Amino acid sequence: TLAIVLFTQDLRLHDNPALHAARTGADQVVPLFVTDPAVTAAGFAAPNRTAFLAGCLADLDANLRRAGGRLLVREGDTAEQTAKLAAETGAAAVHVAAGVSGYARRREQRLRRALGDRLRVHEGSLTAVPPGAVLPAGRDHYAVFTPYHRAWQQAPRRTPLPPPRDLRTPEDLRGAPLPTATPTARRLPDPGEDAARRAWQHWRTENYADLHDDLAADGTSHLSPYLHFGCLSANELVHLAERRGGHGAEAFVRQLVWRDFHHQVLAARPDAARADYRPRHDRWREDPEELAAWREGRTGFPIVDAGMRQLAETGWMHNRARLLTASFLAKSLYLDWRSGADHFLHHLVDGDLANNQLNWQWVAGTGTDTRPNRVLNPLTQADRYDPDGAYVRRWVPELAHLPGGAIHRPWKSVRRPAGYPLPLIPPDSTGHRLRTARIPQDTLP
Ligand code: FAD
Repeated sequence: TLAIVLFTQDLRLHDNPALHAARTGADQVVPLFVTDPAVTAAGFAAPNRTAFLAGCLADLDANLRRAGGRLLVREGDTAEQTAKLAAETGAAAVHVAAGVSGYARRREQRLRRALGDRLRVHEGSLTAVPPGAVLPAGRDHYAVFTPYHRAWQQAPRRTPLPPPRDLRTPEDLRGAPLPTATPTARRLPDPGEDAARRAWQHWRTENYADLHDDLAADGTSHLSPYLHFGCLSANELVHLAERRGGHGAEAFVRQLVWRDFHHQVLAARPDAARADYRPRHDRWREDPEELAAWREGRTGFPIVDAGMRQLAETGWMHNRARLLTASFLAKSLYLDWRSGADHFLHHLVDGDLANNQLNWQWVAGTGTDTRPNRVLNPLTQADRYDPDGAYVRRWVPELAHLPGGAIHRPWKSVRRPAGYPLPLIPPDSTGHRLRTARIPQDTLP
């Protein structure tokens, strides 16, 4: 018998339930990836991610070949192409990982219509604990992180699966070339499963608890692109971190729980990718010039500009910088979180619908934050998380001559370079503009 395994966001051999089941249930396995124009049409195929994906697919193909198989790439509608290949090969089963987005759900439905009960959908491939595996009484997802975290810790978790061997992919199947793209970032991380496993091995967990908010130390794992494309399984990563142990590993696992948390919210509320999770009847301002200044890292607030330039140059941004740049857009400039989320998705190599949209909603106060009115004042954030200004100095070189923390308030310095803009809004209003600019619709005449 022959089985097809349709790869989506699980581009790995280790701990891959769909691949494992395909190998266990059949003599021959055809690993398939479909480049679907619907992803491009939805604007999700941004150059940095497409370039990284192409590298991941090449790495997956190399690893599959070592296991006696190879990757077949086809182009077109995923359900149609998969059904066509199933007919060509007489496949008895098609295995795929369960997704959480609306797009992934629709794809699953269409695969089901085309393949009937030959389709096998595997839960628990994208997250450590599958969405819906733990639930509060009478609800279809957790809306608050702390009780979710508690329930998550009690949830059963799978023992990581070994990579399969002896896949025996038939020789005579014709495939399309791998997708290619030129990234906009200067340099992307090395793509693929092998690079992901190396990155984990080289990254030290010990200081994570103390350093993960320190912008200049840059002490986080940088594993997010690998988690997004499934080069590493979140489930295996939790096991590996628990084996390392210590405060750092514990704090790291907690971040992976945030990832699972946002995925289970999106799985239950796929509309939250665009619509406010908790509508607050707010009107956002529209100001194309302020939006452009934010995007281009010219707000005149060095800490905000540093984050935005790190994003443009590398396709990645430190979590603390994501928080404060997002808060600046949504709560200080009071521009629609969706315009910020779109810009992030255009650049982030780890750009992920669940993590990006729901973190944006959290910051904007339309999401799951239990304190939706909290504002991250960029100056306070700069003093706390980049006290010596080293992060700003790295990304805003024209300010590098300003000493220590003075770099965060260039408008106070006589040595402010002429080319660097004055603050877009009065520096002392950043935490308050929300209250003055935000006009709840229901109080309008
Ligand atoms: P580490 O600190 O090493 O954390 C390990 C892993 O835990 C990360 O790789 C990630 O998978 C997960 N994680 C960490 N923090 C969070 C979080 N707050 N929410 C969900 N998962 C988390 N993450 C993405 O993967 N893709 C996105 O598109 C994305 N957009 C974001 C947008 C905003 C406005 C904010 C505030 C956060 C966003 N995040 C996103 C979450 C977080 O910033 C990144 O996951 C993290 O910075 C990646 O770096 P790292 O791998 O070194 O993280």
